[in-house]
Amino acid sequence: MTSALMPTYARLPVAFQKGEGAWLWDGEGRRYLDALAGIAVCNLGHAHPALTKALCHQAGQLWHTSNLYRIELQERLATRLAALSAMDNVFFCNSGAEANEAAIKLARAYGHSRGIGQPHIVVMEGSFHGRTLATLTATGNPRIKQGFEPLVPGFIQVPYDDLAAVEKLSERDDIVAVLVEPVQGEGGIRVPAANYLPGLRALCDRRGWLLMLDEVQTGIGRCGRWFAHQHWDIVPDVMTLAKALGNGFPIGACLARGPASQVLTAGTHGSTFGGNPLACRVALEVLQTIESEDLLTHCDRLGQEIRTALRERLDAHPLVREVRGLGLMLGIELTEPCGDLVGKALKQGLLINVTAGSVIRLLPPLILDHRQAQQLVETLVELIQEFSP
Ligand SMILES: *Cc1c(COP(=O)(O)O)cnc(C)c1O
Repeated sequence: MTSALMPTYARLPVAFQKGEGAWLWDGEGRRYLDALAGIAVCNLGHAHPALTKALCHQAGQLWHTSNLYRIELQERLATRLAALSAMDNVFFCNSGAEANEAAIKLARAYGHSRGIGQPHIVVMEGSFHGRTLATLTATGNPRIKQGFEPLVPGFIQVPYDDLAAVEKLSERDDIVAVLVEPVQGEGGIRVPAANYLPGLRALCDRRGWLLMLDEVQTGIGRCGRWFAHQHWDIVPDVMTLAKALGNGFPIGACLARGPASQVLTAGTHGSTFGGNPLACRVALEVLQTIESEDLLTHCDRLGQEIRTALRERLDAHPLVREVRGLGLMLGIELTEPCGDLVGKALKQGLLINVTAGSVIRLLPPLILDHRQAQQLVETLVELIQEFSP
C-alpha cells in the first residue's frame, strides 16, 4: 500500500484515524497515549476544539492571497510573537528547515554588510537543523550529511555545551554568527550547563556575532517557557520556530532583533505560502490557548513531576544512565542502544521515540493531565524493567 512512497522513513506498522487530546486511535479502534505529539508539534494535543474552530472559520473566509499584499493575520501574529520574545520582527515560512535557511541567509548578509566576504557560522556537534542542503550541512550528525556532498561551505563545527571551544574561535575575523539549540532535541535531549547560553551571549556581544537560537523543537511552551532560552534570561539576535507554532498546520518563523532585524530587505528573501491566512489564524489561536489554559506553568510542573517519578523508579536501574530534560522535553538515557523500545511501547499503546541511539525521548502534549502522566511513567518503567538489549 505504501509502495508509491519514497522510502525515506522506516515507518511503524500503524496508521491513526482519529485523535483527541493526548489520545490517538488506529483503524481497529485501539487507543494509544501519545507521548511524542508528532515530534513536539501537537503541543495542544489532537483536535483541540479552539484550533478546529479557528481553522474552520478561516477556511470559510480566506486561504491565501500571496505576500505581494498585506496579510493582517500575519501582521498580528508577528506582533504577538515579537511581544512574547522581545524580538523586533518576523519572517514567516513553512517549516523548521526553511526558518533556519532564513537565519543562515540573514547571517551571511549581515556579514557582507560588515565587509566580511566569506562569512562563517559556528554550529554544534550533535545538532539538528533540517534536511535542506544548508541546514543539513549545519547539522552536527554525520549520518544526515553522508551521501549528499558537496556540502555548503561556511560552517565551523565545535562540540556542544563547550563554551571554551567557541571562545577559541574568537580570534577569527570571518565568523558572523553562532547557531545553537538551547536544548538539543535529536541530539539526545541535552540540556547545557547553566553558564553555556549566557556565555555564548556574552561572547557574541563582545565579537559582534549574531546569537541565533534554533527553537524549532524547544519553542512554543515545550520547555515550560514560551521559548527555552527564557530559562537563562538571555535574548538572542535571531530565533527560529516551526513545529508547535501551528500545532500541525505547517508554519515556520525566523525572528530577528536589533541590527539583525534590518538585514533582509525587499527582494532578498521570500516564500509563496509563508505566513498565509490559514497558518497565521491557527498559530494565533495556539498562542492564545497556551496563555488562556496557563499551559506554561502546567508544563513546567508536570515535567518536574515526571522527571522526579522516573528518577525515583529508575535511578537504581543498571541500564539507566540519566533522566533529564526541561519542561516536557524529556530524555531517559540508557547505557545500551534501545531503538527496539519504540515498537514494544507501541504494542503497549504508548507512542515514544528513541534518538541518538540510546535516549528515550518523550515529547507529550502540554495538555497531558496527571493521570496520563502517571500512566506514561508506569508503562515506561515496566518497559525498561523488562528490556534486555
Ligand atoms: C525538527 C527540527 C528542525 C527541522 O524542522 P522541519 O520542519 O522538519 O524542517 C530544525 N531544527 C530543530 C531543532 C528541529 O527539531
